[in-house]
Amino acid sequence: MNKKIIEDQYKKKIKLLNNYNKNYYDKSKPLVDDKEYDELKKETLLLERKYKFLKSKNSPSEIIGYKPSKNFKKVLHRVPMLSLANAFNKEDLLNFEKRILNFISEKENFKISYSAEPKIDGISASLIYKDGKFVQGLSRGDGKEGEDITLNLSTIRDIPKKIINKNFPKEIDIRGEVFIQNSDFINLKEKFANPRNAASGSLRQKNPEDTKKIPLKFIAYTFGFENGLNIKNQFEYLKKLSEWGFRTNPLNKLITDVKNLLINYNEIEKKKSELDFDIDGIVYKINDFNLQNRLGNVANAPRWAIAHKFSSNKAISKITNIEIQIGRTGALTPVAQIKPVNIGGVLVSNATLHNEDEINRKDIRIRDTVTVERAGDVIPHILSVDLKKRSKHSLKFIFPKNCPSCGSKTIKEFNVITKKKDAVRRCASEGYECEKIAIEKIKHFVSKDAFNIEGFGKKIVENFWKLKLIKLPQDIFKLDFKKIESLEGWGKQSVENLRYSVNEKKKISLERFIYSLGIRHIGLENAKLLSKYFKSFLNFKSISQNNKYDELLNIDGIGETQVNSVKNFFSNKINIEVLNELQKIIIIKNALVEKKNGLLKNQTFMLTGKLNGISRAEAKSLIENNSGTTISSVSKKLNYLIIGEKPTKRKIETAKELKVTIIDQSQFLRMLDKTS
Ligand code: NAD
Repeated sequence: MNKKIIEDQYKKKIKLLNNYNKNYYDKSKPLVDDKEYDELKKETLLLERKYKFLKSKNSPSEIIGYKPSKNFKKVLHRVPMLSLANAFNKEDLLNFEKRILNFISEKENFKISYSAEPKIDGISASLIYKDGKFVQGLSRGDGKEGEDITLNLSTIRDIPKKIINKNFPKEIDIRGEVFIQNSDFINLKEKFANPRNAASGSLRQKNPEDTKKIPLKFIAYTFGFENGLNIKNQFEYLKKLSEWGFRTNPLNKLITDVKNLLINYNEIEKKKSELDFDIDGIVYKINDFNLQNRLGNVANAPRWAIAHKFSSNKAISKITNIEIQIGRTGALTPVAQIKPVNIGGVLVSNATLHNEDEINRKDIRIRDTVTVERAGDVIPHILSVDLKKRSKHSLKFIFPKNCPSCGSKTIKEFNVITKKKDAVRRCASEGYECEKIAIEKIKHFVSKDAFNIEGFGKKIVENFWKLKLIKLPQDIFKLDFKKIESLEGWGKQSVENLRYSVNEKKKISLERFIYSLGIRHIGLENAKLLSKYFKSFLNFKSISQNNKYDELLNIDGIGETQVNSVKNFFSNKINIEVLNELQKIIIIKNALVEKKNGLLKNQTFMLTGKLNGISRAEAKSLIENNSGTTISSVSKKLNYLIIGEKPTKRKIETAKELKVTIIDQSQFLRMLDKTS
């Protein structure tokens, strides 16, 4: 590959990492989860290793954290506050020990003792004491310079303000972790992705009075400069910290041998969800200070310590209960409530169990200790049960034979294609008669690809349902806005916004209308096919009177399953009532006749990010109605990448590399203007 291209690629990665760092460390609002961040960091380091000419002062091998914020006075650390190298498996640990032995010219039989300390996922702080008095407190910042957060740190009860102990050094910079307990995080979880972000965001408030309101904790584990410490190893230091009145981690252990480090790691990983503080691994530090000094540091981390990280997509937790969720199409999905556990920067408290068969196959019970996986954007699920840890109080889950919402019978359908009974159990009512299904149907009705009523989120649907403001889709267009204005959390302006959003969506295309009805097996694509076939709402509605369902089989792409589903839909009286009522209130536009020779002919499009006032589905049909094609990945086949708000940066980068034309919403709409 050409040197320039490699350099450009590298610079882009560095820029992206810098932006992620800013949002994570400075703003306490990460843009991506830790796994995605770690992968990008790894790719960048690999590039550096492969192409020696790549250099940047912002390389992840050089930098620490992020520069101090302008909100605080900057102060130089007398001893830099470093980061830690990472290990992910046994091999990494063996290599770590081997590197140390090589460095100090010792053979394999040389035994190294490690202080193994659970790595609390908070933010580090440096506390400077002079003559036993806490005089200054700093954040890590970029490792060289920190932020003066003395007043904020002073609000933390765990931090002694005056230490009277004859062994306490004349001067010392005590370092440790500021964190928030999981039980306190519950109240902040709407604002922050995980306890670490919550601790960082709360500690670095401009006004210390705001920090005071959050119950932050502090655990001490190391020091920067010192005058009069007189001790020889880390474990001795940890003991001294407790004597002086600091909290230390009760799970710290002195361990020799990689084999024993791994045993300890596994034990603590299993306990993780039971702890009231979040840990993301175990830190191993060579216990002997002499040896530490001989080993020294690399650019941004000590050579004598390593953080053995827990997996960023799996964690062990305990099932506290199993609940049934009822979906829009009546499917009963069992969901395990688990003790909240941090997986790759996201606090997980529910995991899907998929269906009854899955529970039986894996023999999953309430109170079981389980491994939970959260990979990518997939809903977290239970991977396996630790049978050795099963208590005699574990409870088998009896799958309900009746719908927990409406009491109707539940059924498992026979699948004509697989010739087997479905794994999914469903509520037989499948309509507005079942409260839970009705709520889900309304959520679907207002959702982005359906009516796309802005500001009408899932929580609002649930709330309005509870207050009996809506029961059927047509009620959305008959809302009592006066009553809403008197509800808690609503004001004149927010009600006005809602009224505007609802009124704005009283006109809809036939295909989106059909999709919004939430007929089982009729997704966006099938709704489009039906819309093309029926052409008008009246034709669509009259199918029930003509009873010509079999004709639908002539539509390419529509099969018996879909036809039966449409038939079922029309056989339900409430559905007909909904159609009749909606017909009186809204305008359903006839299907557009596709332009075979539209100006977008032979052009391919892809969308990234959110467009203003147009949903993805609408943009797609606009393109297709004008003879264009949409594709789902950035490749040489793509002609235009349309970017909206918060686009995926990687897609833009790849598009630029492939010289794909990048346009924004207004450029895209201008292209359509010419064609209409
Ligand atoms: P780190 O968190 O991996 O390790 C260093 C830190 O460990 C220290 O600063 C200290 O705060 C902490 N620590 C806890 N207990 C300790 C103990 N007993 N002894 C010593 N240190 C202890 O390093 P880092 O450079 O601060 O952060 C890297 C991590 O942050 C990675 O996991 C990365 O995924 C995440 N990150 C995520 C994003 C994102 O956008 N999601 C961005 C930047 C960093």
